[in-house]
Amino acid sequence: MTLKIKLGIIGYGGMGHWHGEYAPRAGVEVVAAYDVDPKRLEMAKENGIPAYDNLDDFLQHDGMNFVVIATPNDVHKELTIQSLLAGKHVMVEKPATMSVADWDEMVAESEKAGRILTVHQNRRWDRDYRVMRKVVEEGKIGDVLSIESRVFGTGGAFFGWRSFPEYGGGMILDWGVHLFDQLMNMYPETKVTSVYAKLMTVLDQKVDDYFKVTLTLENGPLLHVEVGTFAFYKLPRWYVIGNDGTLQIDDFDCKSGGYMKPRYTDTPVAEVVVMTTAGPTRMMAPRPPETKEDFPLPEVETDWTELYANLVEVMKGNEELIVKPHQVRRVLELIEAIFRSAEEGRSLDVRI
Ligand code: NAD
Repeated sequence: MTLKIKLGIIGYGGMGHWHGEYAPRAGVEVVAAYDVDPKRLEMAKENGIPAYDNLDDFLQHDGMNFVVIATPNDVHKELTIQSLLAGKHVMVEKPATMSVADWDEMVAESEKAGRILTVHQNRRWDRDYRVMRKVVEEGKIGDVLSIESRVFGTGGAFFGWRSFPEYGGGMILDWGVHLFDQLMNMYPETKVTSVYAKLMTVLDQKVDDYFKVTLTLENGPLLHVEVGTFAFYKLPRWYVIGNDGTLQIDDFDCKSGGYMKPRYTDTPVAEVVVMTTAGPTRMMAPRPPETKEDFPLPEVETDWTELYANLVEVMKGNEELIVKPHQVRRVLELIEAIFRSAEEGRSLDVRI
């Protein structure tokens, strides 16, 4: 008999709807939804999904073996624990919850219940991230000294629960979680040794809508993560400096960008002082074209349905989870340090 995920969706808002529409493309059967908002329940019904306004009834839906939790962040913990106690496997949306202590409780419950607990870190499958990793990990630009991961938009202030700290609003807990998860997943064994974070509000008064975070890795590159919601000129999604080249990826679609490396020829580079509008310079002088080489971004195959396929194999006992509890814990630990650094206005020495 083939084992199938029969998925229940808790919180049929933006992301719950996304799971309802996209999970079937990964072979998942969506069997029920639960929400506290009658309008969202109507929408689920219109989409052919049996909808419940009572959690206990929902958790007893016949045949449902997995739930995805896509509610505001403050209720992830309690809904996860209730679902585990009802014998369901759980994938909770990011951020898994709002503290390491909460996560530890959730993991302990999943272990007690013998059920899967994972987090929807879908951006591990993003093309831009995979392309960046391929160039870096294949050593195309030499030893990497600095990685800048940046997302800029112009949408401005949050709306709904995202603009309240008590619901887990703000950009660190929104985009930040994805971007830190990507980088921590790239350096699983390398410790973060310092964290400096500046969280700002441009339009929003209660939560961070603009942040800059700098992380030092032990014997690794400096990581700079920046998210702005009110930045009218875009900077590249990724900008990576190595000792043998530079990588730039402009946007998620990877349609523009590339990497550039020195071409070692007999031509001496910038031996002369060049006069620029900013004055005379040698080190900042433009490089002669014959001394550098441009490379296009490589192609990568990436398919987010792997995430759901992995869950089926974990249920069968054939594979380990891709998004593992200890990885989730590390990102939450980092986020706690980020908030602490921002609050204290200083860089923190850590081992994360
Ligand atoms: P949303 O406001 O669009 O939807 C949240 C839904 O949860 C609403 O329908 C609301 O009525 C319902 N809800 C609130 N409290 C509830 C409760 N106690 N029990 C049941 N339902 C409840 O929010 P969203 O944008 O869909 O975000 C939901 C979650 O998904 C958040 O954790 C967010 O961080 C995450 N998210 C993840 C991604 C991703 O790419 N992985 C993208 C967007 C959002």
